[in-house]
Amino acid sequence: MVTRKVYLDYSATTPTRSEVVEAMKPYFAEIFGNASSLHAFGQEARKALADARESIAAIIGAKPDEIIFTGCGTEADNMALKGAVWANSGNGNHIITTKIEHHAILQTCEYLETQGFKVTYLDVDSNGRLDPQTVRKAFLPQTILVSVMHANNEVGAIQPIADIGQIIAAENANRANPGASQIYFHTDAVQSAGKMKINVNELKVDLLSISAHKFYGPKGVGMLYVRRGTCMTPLFHGGHHERNRRAGTENISGIVGMAKALEMCATDMDAEQARQRALRERLEKGILATIPDAVINGSGGPRVANVLNCSFRAIEGEGLLLSLDLEGIAVSTGSACASGSSEPSHVLKAMCIDTALAQGTIRFSLGRLTTDDDISYVLEVLPRVVSRLRSMSPLWKGK
Ligand code: PLP
Repeated sequence: MVTRKVYLDYSATTPTRSEVVEAMKPYFAEIFGNASSLHAFGQEARKALADARESIAAIIGAKPDEIIFTGCGTEADNMALKGAVWANSGNGNHIITTKIEHHAILQTCEYLETQGFKVTYLDVDSNGRLDPQTVRKAFLPQTILVSVMHANNEVGAIQPIADIGQIIAAENANRANPGASQIYFHTDAVQSAGKMKINVNELKVDLLSISAHKFYGPKGVGMLYVRRGTCMTPLFHGGHHERNRRAGTENISGIVGMAKALEMCATDMDAEQARQRALRERLEKGILATIPDAVINGSGGPRVANVLNCSFRAIEGEGLLLSLDLEGIAVSTGSACASGSSEPSHVLKAMCIDTALAQGTIRFSLGRLTTDDDISYVLEVLPRVVSRLRSMSPLWKGK
């Protein structure tokens, strides 16, 4: 019976910080008013909403009225893509994105293709990084939106968002009718918020999505930054909330929690990310030193500090995940399983990782509560588990 528990799946979700829970508590039963109500109960809730909006805007270099609260990162991504292309379809029907986006982007693009929009899915290099020049080469006169994620959720690759923003700004300035047929630029910053400094002006983006549960805030709340002047069609109708851009009574406790969580990450970001990076490096070196035929994916390019994506030849990622779970270690696989046959991850495929190798992939994602002892425990368990799985694998020939 294993008693030790080591959570290394912080990119999937994080525990809500106790200070965040405390900040949220009054907004369930005490300050419970509807922020749209004119009476004092409503106004108290409205004030909390305004304060949270101001705080988040200040952290990302935005103006408060550029923040739209949403129910999650997926909703923010849907709103960014559908909202921008629906509102600007008179100017064109072409979208540019990458092959390594989260499904919240990719499946929204696939849906938009069924509605008459054309989508270019750009390749990345073997480290999962996009060359900004490929964006420039993909421009068409009909291009109205570019969406490129800030940090990838599977391998952690950080994309050159500011460089892409610069290229889009130059293209917009050169257009025959500047201003009227603008290309908007969206980034999915769900995996970078709370881990990297985000400034919407330095990144030169018009739209940016984040999700609270990825940075020690509550689940069920996210945000879309929308630069002033960006034309958007709302996804929801039925109320004047969020300046007519997202109908629905606001989740005040969740929004207060998201603001608190983002503020807390900002206070010690550099030190905490350096700590996690050192732990990640210890794990990476330990794996390479003790396990033959292990490959680290994406390590040749810039990566967020907490992600380690690793492939082990001749085993199945899912089998490894389940074996580690029995030892109390929680990780995730890079691959999505469809009706019994595990398809290699679209991200590893785009990075041209050999399919057989990609099948044996797991993602470790570290977080604020990860300790040196946790890493020691993984380095003690993992070589034994990999070796046992390989001993049963017909693919592991006499190594
Ligand atoms: N975008 C990225 C890059 C993600 O990693 C995730 C979640 O894993 C999402 C979007 C979706 O966020 P949410 O879980 O808040 O819907």
